[in-house]
Amino acid sequence: MKVAVLQEAAPGERRVALVPEAVAKLRATGLEILVEAGAGAGSWQPDSSYAEAGAQIVSRAEALAAADVVLMVGRPDELTVNALRPGQVLLGMLALLTDPALAGQLAQAGVTAVSLDLIPRTLPRAQQMDALSSQANIAGYKAVLVAAAEYGRFFPLLITAAGTARPARVLVLGAGVAGLQAIGTARRLGAVVSGYDVRPETRSDVASLGATFLELTAVGPASGTGGYARALNDEERQAQQEELAGHIAQQDVIITTAQVPGRRPPKLISAAAIAAMAPGSVIVDMGASALGGNAAGSVPGDTVVTDNGVTIVGAGALPSSMPGAASAMYARNISALLLYLVKDGAVALDLTDDLQAGVVVTRDGKVVHPALSDAAGKTDPAPVSPPEPASTYPASAAEPALADSPGGTARVDGTSH
Ligand code: NAD
Repeated sequence: MKVAVLQEAAPGERRVALVPEAVAKLRATGLEILVEAGAGAGSWQPDSSYAEAGAQIVSRAEALAAADVVLMVGRPDELTVNALRPGQVLLGMLALLTDPALAGQLAQAGVTAVSLDLIPRTLPRAQQMDALSSQANIAGYKAVLVAAAEYGRFFPLLITAAGTARPARVLVLGAGVAGLQAIGTARRLGAVVSGYDVRPETRSDVASLGATFLELTAVGPASGTGGYARALNDEERQAQQEELAGHIAQQDVIITTAQVPGRRPPKLISAAAIAAMAPGSVIVDMGASALGGNAAGSVPGDTVVTDNGVTIVGAGALPSSMPGAASAMYARNISALLLYLVKDGAVALDLTDDLQAGVVVTRDGKVVHPALSDAAGKTDPAPVSPPEPASTYPASAAEPALADSPGGTARVDGTSH
């Protein structure tokens, strides 16, 4: 069986799906590995290292023509989709639930699409395949470094002959995988850290890292299913923003990581709260994306400074900024899933298996994922939210489910494209 690794299509994406160490491990199981020339360059993996690990270095066209399985980190571009052929398996973080049109296209092309971002994360055997967690860990760590670099003062308490520097006050909003890593990293840098989440079960996680859990009285517990948060309703969201504003004004650095599956990121920091922050304060908004962010005014991939001197970093793509670590971890995740799907030297799918049923989106010319299969056969299937948490809660005006954006990706302004 031939497995191809392609250079990533997204602009600025530096990660690669397999690193040489993973190539060697897959080769040892009898798989043939084809690597597109230059695929690892963004993460400092030269072609020669892949060749030494047993891969064949080929052109993109050769890789696409010969591969039984194509491995990617992110989504394929149009050219790649058009070059895929019936029977091929495409494996990557394809985010197909928010792009049913692409799912339909892959189904029509006869491609078996397996979406690593849909791994049922609570299954113990899926943990080594959990790329969402591995990449969130990296993002949480890097967010703190980005914040520290933007912040014009020290994170730790420093007592020197030239004076004493007080430690930075850092607040982390959202205490999931990324948030907890951010809390730990900021603590290791010596900051005074607090953390907040709508899921009360995170309280002990935050405390165990030596940070203070920020209690809000205006918003009750908002745990959803599958370990995720539920979306807040309009009143809850308003109350949360208002109560948070008082705490935000006292912080030097805020790192936001809040997400609700299938929704645009919840807005936690209002423009009024930012206006009350001290000059020199820093916000790193990890939710910043084309779907909107956790902080008002954050711009994905860009840094803006407000009139009152608050730096807002729109940091939606942090894992790609640590391509060495991110690729190595991702390679372990995707290799584990690939080997799970391979029996006797070929991909052998069994959709009665809950892990496989969670990740296989298209097969035999059809969209088979339960969250999308209703749309199968329609010429222009409507986007749907992930099955578990998002479909449980009604959409709200300000943070609608992605399903509210027929025909395309939801945008911050509520329109679609
Ligand atoms: P996520 O990226 O979906 O969200 C990040 C955090 O934002 C979550 O903690 C969420 O509660 C929080 N959040 C959402 N809306 C908020 C709001 N309005 N205000 C404040 N915070 C808000 O979550 P994640 O980090 O991918 O994972 C969340 C949880 O999933 C984990 O903490 C864990 O319980 C579970 N999980 C389990 C496993 C496993 O069982 N192996 C693996 C990974 C994750």
